[in-house]
Amino acid sequence: MAAPASLASCIESINPATGEVIARFETTPPAEIPRILARARRAQADWASQPLRTRCALVRRLGQAIYARRQELADLVTRESGKPRVEAVFSDILVSLDTANYYAEHAPLLLQPERVPHHNPAVKAKAGWLHYEPYGVIADISPWNYPLAIPLGQIIPAVVAGNAVVLKPSELTPWCGAMVGELFARAGFPPDVVQVIQGGGELGAALVERGPDKVVFTGSVATGKRVAESCARRLTPCVLELGGKDAMIVLADADLEVASSAAVWGSFTNCGQACLSVERIYVEASIADRFSERCAAKTQLLKLGPGSDPHTEVGPMIRARQVDRVDEQLREAVARGARILTGGRRRPDLGPCFFEPTVVADVDHSMRMMQEETFGPILALRSVEDAEEAVSMANDSAFGLAASIWTGDSRRGRRLATQIRAGAVMVNDVASYFGIAEAPHGGRGASGWGRTHSRLGLLELVQVKYVDVDRLPRWPKSWWYGYNEELGVAADRFLEFLFAPEWRHRWRSARGAMRAVFRGHRI
Ligand code: NDP
Repeated sequence: MAAPASLASCIESINPATGEVIARFETTPPAEIPRILARARRAQADWASQPLRTRCALVRRLGQAIYARRQELADLVTRESGKPRVEAVFSDILVSLDTANYYAEHAPLLLQPERVPHHNPAVKAKAGWLHYEPYGVIADISPWNYPLAIPLGQIIPAVVAGNAVVLKPSELTPWCGAMVGELFARAGFPPDVVQVIQGGGELGAALVERGPDKVVFTGSVATGKRVAESCARRLTPCVLELGGKDAMIVLADADLEVASSAAVWGSFTNCGQACLSVERIYVEASIADRFSERCAAKTQLLKLGPGSDPHTEVGPMIRARQVDRVDEQLREAVARGARILTGGRRRPDLGPCFFEPTVVADVDHSMRMMQEETFGPILALRSVEDAEEAVSMANDSAFGLAASIWTGDSRRGRRLATQIRAGAVMVNDVASYFGIAEAPHGGRGASGWGRTHSRLGLLELVQVKYVDVDRLPRWPKSWWYGYNEELGVAADRFLEFLFAPEWRHRWRSARGAMRAVFRGHRI
């Protein structure tokens, strides 16, 4: 699987559970990018000319290829990203398969030219249509935390819509990146419709610099800003899926048993390294102690270990430097008065990247832990007076990716959801909307802009063209040349006819307005 390569020009795939190098992949020299983009452009022209149903049929074959190799893929995701194998199946594999199914089935309807009804009687003689056309070449730059679900969730709709794609996976998960390319090739996609380039951040930067037709970027806020600046210089449109600081609001009428299980899973799944991780929990004061105790007790039951062990519930973090960041945030929070209820230690006995799942209470918004993305196995609790304070705390963040509300009254939950500044709010669940093909994913504020997944995500990958067909092609238009006083008066009657507040004024001006329509055209 791994390409043989000289050590100088390769990146290493490392198993985060052991620190072992498991494969090496040849890096793509940035100087190659113009040729790669040129090949993508040639391939795209042919690809876009294929009927949509042919493209969908190939996506269906891609889904079958993923399904047939699901065991191997789950092993690979676990080996390279560290997550427990069950999570690789439920997140990476399931989401990839469902994305393929959804777009293969629904894209013909979603991309069908759409009739635009005109409300204004003055343009009733025109038939309007929206046509959806591919951008051309999409640059997809993706992170390591969901190394199949994220790129496939974006590439599949891109190719369905008739684009070619150049994927730059994270240098931390090059094997999964290479696998994405291999899956498309095996499914029978024409050469160069999906190309994978391997390298670090400088390669991603070079790809954006070379002017693809659109960039779909998923990653940190800092890198997202660099990508956005580079895109702005070329007026290249981009989608930015950036970090999150998702709040979970637990109201006094919630089912504490279920909500505490959700808090534990939402904080520790993928070792807390998910954009949709539960990063801040606001609990109503009357239940705060009982809720914290349950969270701590359930966290103590979690099994920490390598993702390949079927009993492991929390795996390693991706690299030791990420562990350092989490440890620093935790120390700072404790120095400012936060209390560790359980966990809080590195576990070098298990491997270089292990950190205990940790429950912290009494956090406040002066702490980095409540301001910055933690992206690690921390469950942070704060008690609040009531729902109003919880909503205000949830909104006190630069991020706005998603949030959840826990309550026995789902109508109240929905009402509160409207007050939360986020791209998605779940009532009585966390994060799982990412696996709903129809649910748009994307954030506000520092969490980025644009959407992936769903119909909205597909529409990010097409240019909308308005096509207008005149039903009276032999009729010169009222507003064309031949201006004179009479036309000036008729034009005013025309406005009265269309917009006068009272109907009788409208009817009275009808005849005058018709003079603008039925007139001789000198020119
Ligand atoms: P990074 O921002 O470090 O990297 C993301 C991708 O960008 C990687 O492929 C990286 O390459 C590449 N890259 C780095 N520098 C540049 C550059 N200057 N120009 C172009 N590309 C560049 O993020 P992580 O990989 O660490 O991912 C974690 C982050 O992603 C978290 O903040 C998380 O919240 C966010 N995320 C957001 C999601 C969302 O849907 N909103 C989903 C998942 C994660 P390389 O890795 O090789 O350096």
